Amino acid sequence: GKEHSSRNSLTYFTEDMKESSRDYFEIEMNLRKGLIENQFMMYFQPQISGPDARIDGFEALVRWNHPEIGLVRPDIFIPLAESTGFIVPLGEWIIQESLKTLKKFHEAGMTHLGVSVNISSRQFIHEHFPEMIFQALDQYQLSPDKLCLEITESVAMEESSIVLERLHLFTKKGVKLSVDDFGTGFSAFVYLLDYPVNEIKIDREFIRLLTQNKKSEALVKTIIDLADNLRLSVIAEGVETQDQLGLLQSLGCQRFQGYLISKPVPPAELTQWVNKFRPEQVM
Ligand code: C2E
Ligand code: MG
Ligand code: MG
Ligand code: MG
Repeated sequence: GKEHSSRNSLTYFTEDMKESSRDYFEIEMNLRKGLIENQFMMYFQPQISGPDARIDGFEALVRWNHPEIGLVRPDIFIPLAESTGFIVPLGEWIIQESLKTLKKFHEAGMTHLGVSVNISSRQFIHEHFPEMIFQALDQYQLSPDKLCLEITESVAMEESSIVLERLHLFTKKGVKLSVDDFGTGFSAFVYLLDYPVNEIKIDREFIRLLTQNKKSEALVKTIIDLADNLRLSVIAEGVETQDQLGLLQSLGCQRFQGYLISKPVPPAELTQWVNKFRPEQVM
């Protein structure tokens, strides 16, 4: 319910914003004010793996709880935050919240759980980004391999040596790297040969089409086999139905995320969700 409630006002909102640089400046001010006034929130969407549907972590997804508009989805404000540079302070807050939440689970004994955090391009190449990540891991005393940075193909493909350098640095330190929305960015995936990444995440559009035609099934199978052959982990996002899950399993996919398992959950309800979850619900 809540997840989709404010779409219309939002469309309006962004159309308005694009109109003049004055509005643009205003939204930037609003974003900054929002951070100071605690209007941002992280939601966590569970990820499960294996035939036993074990919970292995969460994807952290940011929301903006705007006092007048309500819950604003990241697709609306992340691009704005990117273009104004606000993504840097916001991104740091996102890492803090994500690790803080993960730490609570580790303290409760669930030390196998990890968290995946979306990192936008400008944030990834920001001068102090690696330092910020390592400091936060240190601060929460979390093993680096419990943090996975999700980057999109467009970041991975960027022809800057800084991206490659950083991918190697994070790999060396044990931080996991995932290619988000795999298959939607660039048709050439030759970068997978040079770039040290651990996981590819099949875009939910492929999952949506999966049970609808044989061609998408072939495509998804190819992605899963590619991941296998390159010794990469593969996860399907946007799994909504039992049929999709069954088909993905028969194609060799072992890790899943999507509404079938759970919608993104606010932190206050997350522990309860974890305790209540039964693999039989989905498998
Ligand atoms: P994404 O990283 O590909 O995240 C997956 C999106 O799919 C999320 O939307 C999630 O709520 C939604 N989703 C998950 N399962 C299902 C499903 O079964 N069906 C459907 N229809 N949708 C599903 P959300 O949270 O609105 O995020 C949208 C995008 O915004 C993300 O795409 C990501 O690119 C960006 N984003 C979200 N949080 C952050 C963040 O903390 N930092 C940055 N830089 N970007 C973020
Ligand atoms: Mg993602
Ligand atoms: Mg994605
Ligand atoms: Mg996406």
